[in-house]
Amino acid sequence: MSRIAGRTIHGLHDRDERLALAGRGTDLQLMRESNWLLVLNYVREHGGSPRAEIARQTGLSRTTIGNIIDDLLAEGLVRESGSERADTSGGRRVVPVHFNADVATIIGIALGRHRLIMVVTDLSANILGRTEVPFPAYQGPDTCLPLLADAIRTFIMAQGIPWAKVIGVGIGMPGIVTDGVCLAPTIPGWIGTNALQRIRELVDLPIYLDNNAKLGALGESRYGNARDVESMLYVRVGTGIGGGLVLNGQVYRGGAGSAGEIGHMVVDPHGPICLCGNTGCLEVFAGKAAIIEYVRARQPAVQDIVTVLQLAQAGDAVALAALHRAGASIGAVVAGLVNFISPVLIVVNGSTLRAGELILAPLRDTVLAHSLPTPRAHTRVIAGALGSNAVALGGVATVLDAVFRDGRALHTLATTTAPVYK
Ligand SMILES: [Zn+2]
Repeated sequence: MSRIAGRTIHGLHDRDERLALAGRGTDLQLMRESNWLLVLNYVREHGGSPRAEIARQTGLSRTTIGNIIDDLLAEGLVRESGSERADTSGGRRVVPVHFNADVATIIGIALGRHRLIMVVTDLSANILGRTEVPFPAYQGPDTCLPLLADAIRTFIMAQGIPWAKVIGVGIGMPGIVTDGVCLAPTIPGWIGTNALQRIRELVDLPIYLDNNAKLGALGESRYGNARDVESMLYVRVGTGIGGGLVLNGQVYRGGAGSAGEIGHMVVDPHGPICLCGNTGCLEVFAGKAAIIEYVRARQPAVQDIVTVLQLAQAGDAVALAALHRAGASIGAVVAGLVNFISPVLIVVNGSTLRAGELILAPLRDTVLAHSLPTPRAHTRVIAGALGSNAVALGGVATVLDAVFRDGRALHTLATTTAPVYK
């Protein structure tokens, strides 16, 4: 694993990996490809290094580096800047080599129950454009997947992005997603849908699909408040309660790929029935519907979360109690996870976090009250830094990981005639 400007580059082949590949010996093309990726990822990480420095650091010969940099220049993936400086060893001019993040773009999408959030980024995950549109996910995949495809096309056109420069689309959605198939618990009507395959049939771009909380965790881990943190528990509070665990920079998936379903951990076995069929899950105490229902049962005019948040901010005791109950319920579950995992950081995000400390404070207080002193002393509960972009940026990170681990998609960029996106 290596770092670029504080960001972790997971596509980078480390030296052992490269040597293992090179050790096969017989496949020169494989070795060339491995060296090409090694140099490209080194330049991503250490933008501004001259060729001689890249050769020293990668262990490749000056000749090999020269050939690879020439290829990368031709492919538009690197550029040599004009800020030349004299080589102290012999008066030669040395030219810094920089990664060209503008050569392609990535689309990251948060597919929610009621809205789509889409971002377009460069290859360094810098956001170049963003949109947010209504999305009726409850109408099911037959209605919604064509709408999603249209939304992607409209967004790309509106942003003025040449289609050929979009190197991938990373999408996060609620529920368990295993090999592209939506599994329970998920949005009603989507169970058993191979959403990944169907989106690929509708949109002629490389598509990646994952659970939204896992992507939120990945986004915060790469670009948010959890950068450089070894172990992080991510909690997403919204219509559902989702979770993600990041260990050593990677999202932990577990045997079934479903790890992180914190919303379906039981708070009260005798509690109300949950979407998943169980009773008393965290989600039925802390999900958006539970917060609204708590207030509506006492103040029938209240029908939506915006009103609840407004009432709470105005000091309404019932609305405050609803948010307190939600935060404390989440905190009780998280306290158990703190004991078990001892995460360095607990990052909370999601639409309900618009309530800020009104939900975060009882959550934090309950974690502190109910976790053991030792892990408690080494963890912090904080709000995410990426807000509503966390899931979409996790989608971007997923595309980047795939592209820079493989590299094949990058070779095709130079063959397109479309102008480089600026
Ligand atoms: Zn449940």
